[in-house]
Amino acid sequence: MGRVVGFYFMKGIKNMNELEKKDMYWASVSGGKDSLFMFRLILDNPEKYKLNGVVHFKLEIDFPWVDDVCALYKEWCQKLGIPYIEISPRMSWYDGVKRWGFPTRLGRWCNSNYKLDCRRQFEKTFKDIANIHWYVGFCADETHRFKNDIYPLAIENINESDILEWAKNVPVFNNYYKTCKRQGCMFCPLSSMIEKAYLKKYYPDKYKEMCDYVKDFENKKHKLVYHAPIDVINERIDKKWIKRVI
Ligand code: SF4
Repeated sequence: MGRVVGFYFMKGIKNMNELEKKDMYWASVSGGKDSLFMFRLILDNPEKYKLNGVVHFKLEIDFPWVDDVCALYKEWCQKLGIPYIEISPRMSWYDGVKRWGFPTRLGRWCNSNYKLDCRRQFEKTFKDIANIHWYVGFCADETHRFKNDIYPLAIENINESDILEWAKNVPVFNNYYKTCKRQGCMFCPLSSMIEKAYLKKYYPDKYKEMCDYVKDFENKKHKLVYHAPIDVINERIDKKWIKRVI
């Protein structure tokens, strides 16, 4: 099963071969606001949204507060008596950096070769025993991201801005949404200046680690990860952005 990590309330489906292939409804959750809001929505509407389990793709480069959000999922799933699973990529992000260098906007191996490996593991594990239907936390104003999954937030006509207002005052997010709108990974090549400033203010060791990796990439590959060299970005963060972080 690769690096699939189940928890003790997974016992119910441990003997997967004994199950008949059937339709199953799983929520795929990140540690972010949209996933958490979607999960609460599903819990509040059990007749409309059948739920067989919850899966989180656990990445080494998630913000530390994501663990606290996942603890909530674990607790709620335990109460409901349904499985909660965490799956990690079979390859470490750090090994990926050694192999391909720091991910860039155009070379986002962190998505294709790293994060999506979790979904591949899950689908391989379940392919002979279930038709999986995924609940994914895309909003009504994110139709460009839709594929063939089920989008409860869109079905209920909820937009990203509605959830952002709610998330600003949810303590488990560690003030992230008071300052930032989008949540990617800590070392995301798509991160904005304010997101980097948040990382620097709240998790300075992680910020330094990111800068070291980016600098190494710039020196070795003679290319930029962001729109300017990391030293310049760091100066701009100190001068302008860090004071905007709440
Ligand atoms: S959020 Fe950013 S760092 Fe994380 S997988 Fe996606 S592109 Fe990569």
